[in-house]
Amino acid sequence: MKVGFIGLGNMGGPMAANLAAAGHAVTGFDLAAPCPEGVTMAATAAEAAAGGDVVITMLPNGEILEAVAAEVIPAMTPGAVLCDCSTVDVESARRVAAEAEAAGLGAVDAPVSGGVGGATAGTLTFMAGGSEDAFARVAPLFEVMGQKAVHCGASGAGQAAKICNNMILGVTMIATCEAFALADKLGLDRQKMFDVVSTSSGQSWTMNAYCPAPGVGPHSPADNDYKPGFASELMLKDLRLAQAAAQMVDADTPMGLAAAKLYETFVEEEGGRGRDFSAMLPRFERRTRT
Ligand code: NAD
Repeated sequence: MKVGFIGLGNMGGPMAANLAAAGHAVTGFDLAAPCPEGVTMAATAAEAAAGGDVVITMLPNGEILEAVAAEVIPAMTPGAVLCDCSTVDVESARRVAAEAEAAGLGAVDAPVSGGVGGATAGTLTFMAGGSEDAFARVAPLFEVMGQKAVHCGASGAGQAAKICNNMILGVTMIATCEAFALADKLGLDRQKMFDVVSTSSGQSWTMNAYCPAPGVGPHSPADNDYKPGFASELMLKDLRLAQAAAQMVDADTPMGLAAAKLYETFVEEEGGRGRDFSAMLPRFERRTRT
């Protein structure tokens, strides 16, 4: 396929390189990032998008996505598909899809899970929203860049699935970290805590696969001085998107709200920026109830 790829940063760069390595003709554009292997760079986003069967965007937020979409939609060939893989708010995703469809294009919102490691290895999970037809046309590219693609529903459904998943992840990480810090103060050995919880009803991905305690469980960012991994500020971004969505539909999400506030304090006041989101554990270790 002819693919336009806009946003070649930590995630987009390796995703575009994997598409090129699989034999797709990839034309890329980024304001700053270097050219990934096998990709031809264009001078503008519109030039990267022109003539593409599919145009993929992998950008920082909804505002930038809307600006880029306004530039590329008029340049795209009618019948082509605009596929946004960024994590953005549900409203922006729906607006961009409506604009693309009004211009005779297909539209898919397909945020990812799996991080930079998954983007490099081609093992991302895509959660997609949009029409059956548009999803089917992008699916062969998802197969190259990922190991699984779930079609979640209409436009915006991919972003909805992503923020619900990450709200669970943020809340669960905090619960796992505060439980470890409590166990420490009760004199419980961390390995014993892991052995029990990872095989009991308190088990979770954050305990079993991404344990926040160094030297315990499988290798994780905790074993690498909490270098990300998944940075705390990216978790904060996703928790804020979840709160924006909850506000939009009047959903009561007290745990999600508490998690957003905690990560906000951690990132903005406690040196959490640039540290893995599991570094909540050393934060709780240092604290008392007051
Ligand atoms: P990044 O900052 O490394 O990459 C974004 C790229 O977009 C940058 O290279 C930037 O120069 C480029 N860009 C910004 N404005 C542009 C414009 N107007 N035109 C063209 N290029 C522009 O970020 P990332 O880590 O690659 O994340 C991208 C998206 O993926 C985000 O929405 C993020 O939330 C999501 N995501 C990231 C991860 C992760 O672990 N990094 C995991 C899942 C989802």
